[in-house]
Amino acid sequence: MANRPYNFSAGPAVLPEEVLRQAADEMLDWHGAGMSVMEMSHRGREFLSICEQAESDLRDLLAVPEHFRILFMQGGGLGQNAIVPMNLSRGAEADFIVTGSWSQKSAEEAARYCQAGIAAATESGAHLSIPDPASWVLRPQASYVHLCSNETIDGIEFQQLPDLAALGSNASLVIDCSSHILSRTIDWSKVGLAFAGAQKNIGPAGLTIVIVREDLLGRAMSICPTVFNYKKVAEAGSMYNTPPTYAIYMAGLVFQWVKRQGGVAEMERRAIERSNLLYQFIDASNFYVNRVAPAARSRMNVPFALRDESLNEAFLAGARAKGLVQLRGHKSVGGMRASLYNAMPVKGVRALVAYMREFTVSHG
Ligand SMILES: *Cc1c(COP(=O)(O)O)cnc(C)c1O
Repeated sequence: MANRPYNFSAGPAVLPEEVLRQAADEMLDWHGAGMSVMEMSHRGREFLSICEQAESDLRDLLAVPEHFRILFMQGGGLGQNAIVPMNLSRGAEADFIVTGSWSQKSAEEAARYCQAGIAAATESGAHLSIPDPASWVLRPQASYVHLCSNETIDGIEFQQLPDLAALGSNASLVIDCSSHILSRTIDWSKVGLAFAGAQKNIGPAGLTIVIVREDLLGRAMSICPTVFNYKKVAEAGSMYNTPPTYAIYMAGLVFQWVKRQGGVAEMERRAIERSNLLYQFIDASNFYVNRVAPAARSRMNVPFALRDESLNEAFLAGARAKGLVQLRGHKSVGGMRASLYNAMPVKGVRALVAYMREFTVSHG
């Protein structure tokens, strides 16, 4: 097989080659079952064992306490923007911290189901930092506070989660961690619910992971579709209806891969190494720029611009020729974006930096 390119896509995104090979080997006959995982009943012994293993590996990897339930759902991150308010808000108040495109979308969607308030926001079109939690305007009656712990488009990451109780709030913290789950630990003492679409840092699209504290179950509004009612899904062990079986299987292979690499601590070490390489190069150059406040910079998604934007197409074409693909920035931001998820080897970032240096020489 020809060399695979380094894929910097924001999602669906690069997966570990080892995992893809294992899935290929098991495609026609999973462990002697005589069939592919795709062909199995979701209620059969074989698939149940795959699902239980995936759930328990995820619980280990993220040190999820026993009083949290892990749900395998569908509908993606955007689905959760409606599903969370339908399950947690009782149609009353919920507060939002808007630090980028995804949290903005979450607030807008939630407003269809509850009284969504903006407790803090950076300016739209200039999401470059995280407002100090001490300045957030949290309403005492809000049932939850939503934030996006890694803004995939704007390249902004919470380096630590706020302690709502210490800010005088009784609300539960909801985090959209779609694009950095499994790249760092999560302090569950601060969190009520975490959700993530799988297609960024876990596996194929189609699976949405929800990790929810048990006492938050059973509050769904009557308009909530039963398949999206967390309590029903939890009671049915994520089998209320047919779950995305193949995506769960693939996610499970990725969880085992992460374990073999050394777990989330090792993923975090690599994320720091990769992102430091790229940010240090960008900051030292007068050819490229990243405007995000250093303390809020994402380790996973690094947006950057060429100071001379007329060179954008030449930059992308040259990158493609070197096997560095999917570097075009999101249309709302422009410029470039390198997504550096768990499956991106450090070598890939070294190759990107080498190309960026070379490009400054040939076009500087
Ligand atoms: C990709 C992404 C989403 C949207 O996920 P879908 O699965 O496309 O609905 C939501 N939030 C964040 C932070 C994302 O990166």
